[in-house]
Amino acid sequence: MTAAPAMTSCTRPTPSGRVYNFSAGPAGMPEPVLRQLQEDLWDLRGSGIGIMEHSHRGTVYDAINAEAHEWCRKAGRVPADWEVILMPGGATVQQAYLPFNFLPAGRTADYPDTGIWTTKAISEGRKAAAMLGAHIHVAFEGSRLKYTRVPKDGEMSQTPNAAYLHYCSNNTVFGTRYPTTPVTTAPLVCDASSEYFARPVDWSRHVMLYGGGQKNLGPSGISLVLVQKDFLATANPALPTMMSFAAHAAGESRLNTPPTFGVHAMGLMFRWIAAQGGPEALERAAIDKSGLLYDAIDSSNGFYTGLAERWCRSFMNVSFRLPTPELDARFVKEAAAQGMDGLTGHRDAGGVRASIYSAFPREGCVALAQFMRDFAGRTS
Ligand SMILES: *Cc1c(COP(=O)(O)O)cnc(C)c1O
Repeated sequence: MTAAPAMTSCTRPTPSGRVYNFSAGPAGMPEPVLRQLQEDLWDLRGSGIGIMEHSHRGTVYDAINAEAHEWCRKAGRVPADWEVILMPGGATVQQAYLPFNFLPAGRTADYPDTGIWTTKAISEGRKAAAMLGAHIHVAFEGSRLKYTRVPKDGEMSQTPNAAYLHYCSNNTVFGTRYPTTPVTTAPLVCDASSEYFARPVDWSRHVMLYGGGQKNLGPSGISLVLVQKDFLATANPALPTMMSFAAHAAGESRLNTPPTFGVHAMGLMFRWIAAQGGPEALERAAIDKSGLLYDAIDSSNGFYTGLAERWCRSFMNVSFRLPTPELDARFVKEAAAQGMDGLTGHRDAGGVRASIYSAFPREGCVALAQFMRDFAGRTS
């Protein structure tokens, strides 16, 4: 084997010798989960076979699969009349399947546009709608506001009798978040990718949530789809099997060979989330952690400017700018040298973005807030 290219040397500020990883996703995972996975790669539960090598129809994997679903319900407080589906592919896969499942010919689905990911959902939705003889209505045009906020109550233009309303509760790129569940009479579908189980869900107001794993739930390449059973019963029954949420639910998330490692990793993440106290506790922690960074922004006399309006700031993705793009770049580079990685803003938003999902340690936010104050002090 040839040696991997050497990483740029930097301080390793954490007790375990790793860096603070502010990546937007795939993102850092909790140390105990990673240690367990290391072990399970080699020998899963004394079977003499690693997790990636077990048959997905064998009894060892039967337990792994069943436990991942059970712990998902426990960790996320998922009601009994909802299905838990662990599906291959990321959130964008679910965005593509959504209209095929739930948008009948002649009907309209509403999509408020609040950032890159809803824009993608809309463009995918339109392609599907064209095939289905249905329509996508953009219920809010956030691009006009440069995505600095989400719609306020009553601000969306909603279609009467819409098949569903699709929204993204936390906008990963611009760092905005709906402070409360949008008000609608349409069945409500949420892209929860960057906030999954990091905030309590008002189950009675939703019919479906989906999201990729790699932000708050662990591995990439697998998504969590939660869907209310009565709503699922209304899905298009004529779809190719792999596109059908109902088929995945009936097949207990293993219609074909599932991403077995990902399912196990998510199962361990659900246990970790439950041990932290679930979504309520993780939301409190997120308010505290993001508050450290927002305080550093707000007390900088305008050196740092937040991208989002204050009332809808994200607790997961803290986006801000320095006075010039050159300073943004210098900030990111100097932070990296101190062991704070992944702070470059999304290519479409620019600036700096600190993604601090559930597993991100509070000490990392303390360190970044201190660095922000130091940097502003010696630069402005
Ligand atoms: C990351 C992200 C996606 C894309 O997820 P993939 O797993 O890469 O398909 C979609 N929506 C939101 C809100 C995201 O944060």
